[in-house]
Amino acid sequence: MAALTRLLVRPRSLSLARTFSAAASTTTTTTTTTTTETDSLLRFSSPSPPSPSPSPSPSPSPSLPRLARRGPDDRNVQWVFLGCPGVGKGTYASRLCNLLGVPHIATGDLVRDEMKSSGPLSTQLTEISNQGQLVSDEIIIDLLSKRLEAGEAKGELGFILDGFPRTIRQAEILEGVADIDLVINLKLREDVLIEKCLGRRICSQCGGNFNIANIDIKGGNGSPGIYMAPLLPPPSCATKLITRADDTEEVVKERLRIYNDMSQPVEEFYRGKGKLLEFDLPGGIPESWPKLLQVLNLDDHDDKQSAAA
Ligand SMILES: [Zn+2]
Repeated sequence: MAALTRLLVRPRSLSLARTFSAAASTTTTTTTTTTTETDSLLRFSSPSPPSPSPSPSPSPSPSLPRLARRGPDDRNVQWVFLGCPGVGKGTYASRLCNLLGVPHIATGDLVRDEMKSSGPLSTQLTEISNQGQLVSDEIIIDLLSKRLEAGEAKGELGFILDGFPRTIRQAEILEGVADIDLVINLKLREDVLIEKCLGRRICSQCGGNFNIANIDIKGGNGSPGIYMAPLLPPPSCATKLITRADDTEEVVKERLRIYNDMSQPVEEFYRGKGKLLEFDLPGGIPESWPKLLQVLNLDDHDDKQSAAA
């Protein structure tokens, strides 16, 4: 944790920086910053700058490890995936990571790993999760810091973040420590999303994930149709399917409401920087994956096999 003490929030976002310090904005136009400069800026960034997003805890500024600055040619991609719960962003992020050779860093996984551990946060995280609430900035940033530091120590040169940033405050902190190239916002119609979430099933024996929702919406009135095949279990699992306790319609809708309220300012933040790529999912993986690659100008040599997987 020693490394964290030197890690400071640097207000590189000029529009927000100007709102709380005209002096700071004149020193933040470069992409590299010395420690001294950062130290002088810290007093402007603490406490947190005014933010249009709901900021539940204006407590001491959490921070991320500052990653070594490298030009885009000397490193791999540093991308962010946005998308509401159930949209499948973990699946697409993970596939892109395999294709690009970067780690898929999902804050949800970091939280689940911590919950499984007997660490001090374990009980607290389990309670928060059972109530369908979101984990605080401080906990998320603490977990992500450890992950990024470990990655940098191993020589990782890029990443795709999934589940972070979730708030403007987190986005600001991230901008201060990494050069995010692209933010991909995966979108799906809300009625389809809910149906898909309610169709999720888990095999109580092998833990396999399935989905019994069969979505086939015809296009019309200028909107395209959406087809998503169910992901049915093999016969050996079919009699052992269970539904996750938090996949009720009420909890799913509450999760979406919380997500939408929080994500809009974050989307605006990246849209303002010209980094946001909106991607409307045209259907399931076989329909969506090739289109996503096309939009990203990527080529998947194993496309045929992986799209069918
Ligand atoms: Zn099974």
